[in-house]
Amino acid sequence: MQIFTSTQEAQRWTLENKKRRVLVPTMGALHRGHMELIRIARDAAGPEGEVAVSIFVNPLQFEPGSDFERYPRSESSDEELCRKAGVDLLYRPGQNEMYAPDRSVFVEEILLSNTLCGKSRPGHFRGVCTVVAKLFNIIAPNAAVFGEKDFQQLAIVRRMVRDLNFPIEIIGAPIVREPDGLACSSRNRYLNPEERAQASVLRKACLSALEFVKVVRSASDIVAAARAMIERAPLARIDYVELVDAETLQPLESLGERSLLALAVFFGKTRLIDNIQLA
Ligand code: AMP
Repeated sequence: MQIFTSTQEAQRWTLENKKRRVLVPTMGALHRGHMELIRIARDAAGPEGEVAVSIFVNPLQFEPGSDFERYPRSESSDEELCRKAGVDLLYRPGQNEMYAPDRSVFVEEILLSNTLCGKSRPGHFRGVCTVVAKLFNIIAPNAAVFGEKDFQQLAIVRRMVRDLNFPIEIIGAPIVREPDGLACSSRNRYLNPEERAQASVLRKACLSALEFVKVVRSASDIVAAARAMIERAPLARIDYVELVDAETLQPLESLGERSLLALAVFFGKTRLIDNIQLA
């Protein structure tokens, strides 16, 4: 496995090495969700191609006062996991390798970013688009894999690739879950045992919505049912529960052809997200 901490060296290598390349961008603290993305990347790369993983905790996508400083970092076990998974290239730049101190160019998506997590996390998707565009330029992949757990991020990256003509296929990966249904996330390790036990309510709310749509079509009724389920967990504090169109991410009044229930819920300071396609 090639490991690059220098952007210049990584870019030189990817320019000279013309193999088919599939990128998995991550912030590290790798878990089973990331490993599934790497497996999908391996398949998509084919026997002659290579899998690249980037690990970078991107300060631009953390709002002031959020968890950037305490975001889990586990360099050596991440490296080991990548090695075992047969990753060919690990790009792990330091903070100073990614952004010039006087940076003045950013990438901003202005429509899909205004809903859901974009409302509660101003500037977040601008940070995501900027770093993903940079990773695409540095690693020059033919394809990149993103998880459906961050559904809005996936939709925005697809839009960025379309609107800026990146010659890169974007592959969506299904959500990987813990046995009780909680989506795997690096942030799950912030939860204390009581919060962790109650956090499975996110999945329960999604599944109850799936049952509910067999008899009800109004968005407000579906959302109310999901909220009621979440409110059964005394430590849960709802950020949002919304029924949106899975492509435009705009709110729906009733169940449509591409309806997605998306939710974000705080347990203490930890904000967890989940979603489910209802139609
Ligand atoms: P992160 O390191 O949290 O920025 O995530 C890196 C990538 O892994 C993103 O594309 C996420 O959507 C994806 N991902 C994280 N957790 C999961 C999960 N439980 N299932 C599927 N994909 C995931």
